[in-house]
Amino acid sequence: MSAFKGKYHDELIANAAYIGTPGKGILAADESTGTIGKRLSSINVENVEENRRILRELLFTAPGVLPCLSGVILFEETLYQKTATGKPFVDVLKEGGVLPGIKVDKGTVELPGTDGETTTQGLDGLAQRCQKYYEAGARFAKWRSVLKIGPNEPSQLAITDNANGLARYAVICQENGLVPIVEPEILVDGPHDIHKCADVTERVLAAVYKALNDHHVLLEGTLLKPNMVTPGSDAPKVAPEVIAEHTVRALQRTMPPAVPAVVFLSGGQSEEEATLNLNAMNKLKAKKPWILSFSFGRALQQSTLKAWAGKDENIKKAQAALFARAKANSEATLGTYKGDATLGEGAAESLHVKDYKY
Ligand code: 13P
Repeated sequence: MSAFKGKYHDELIANAAYIGTPGKGILAADESTGTIGKRLSSINVENVEENRRILRELLFTAPGVLPCLSGVILFEETLYQKTATGKPFVDVLKEGGVLPGIKVDKGTVELPGTDGETTTQGLDGLAQRCQKYYEAGARFAKWRSVLKIGPNEPSQLAITDNANGLARYAVICQENGLVPIVEPEILVDGPHDIHKCADVTERVLAAVYKALNDHHVLLEGTLLKPNMVTPGSDAPKVAPEVIAEHTVRALQRTMPPAVPAVVFLSGGQSEEEATLNLNAMNKLKAKKPWILSFSFGRALQQSTLKAWAGKDENIKKAQAALFARAKANSEATLGTYKGDATLGEGAAESLHVKDYKY
């Protein structure tokens, strides 16, 4: 047996399986203060704590949305915030059947001697932070590693270092009761074709699962948050069915069936594109021993943000936009999305930002 058996063993397995409930997925609302500032400035809203709180309240109290979700990822500030009437957000989520999660990485720094490749920071003091977050109600965590595709990238150094970082993070989370979402994001930036993305995704995922096993991580108590396998942002697009086939094959070749669910990031795809791609994967007839679901940030929030524009009188309209996306993605986890969601402003627009920082 390679996996360690700690005191949270059964709870980790139950929570990871719960997050993978068919028909449900994750809302990534864990933008750091700097990143949410960029989103807010795009609608001319000042980046102050109260505006961040109002936006998060709008998201978590939107009618019909929580039943489409099994988890919400929060930034530390949001974990301790309350609604305008004084109810902790954590309670709002729990009562709606949604597990609160927490971003625990501390962003990326450049690996010296590489062409702009990075490693993710945040291992120091992580055990203590996990304990504090568990006490506050968090039950899962996220750590984002970032790799890029270039003429010589990702380098073996970047692959090995990020795989080990993810494995150390994962086992520390598990020792302290949090289900780790393992996120090795390969950025979409570049002119490469889908075959190159498939090749890199397979190399990276193989290294990640080798490291998780070496570190005795309990795979049944983890989730994978990968990029979908797509052509680069500067290459011609391909159909959702092609993305589905390449993505599922990359997972089949590298990802153990012990992991209950894959929760894809949207990585700069438009809202509608991300939903159609997920739906195509769930329609695909192939060997798929895991649940395929979503953990979208930009692809769940873009039309909501635009509809809100920072105005109280737009809150209902913004919440309806979020519901439209949450429902469409819930259907996509079952492969039953008909492409019939009402498209809000911005739902079809690319959300790609070069070198995106979360
Ligand atoms: P996007 O869906 O906007 O890529 O973000 C998801 C996320 O949480 C990245 O860490």
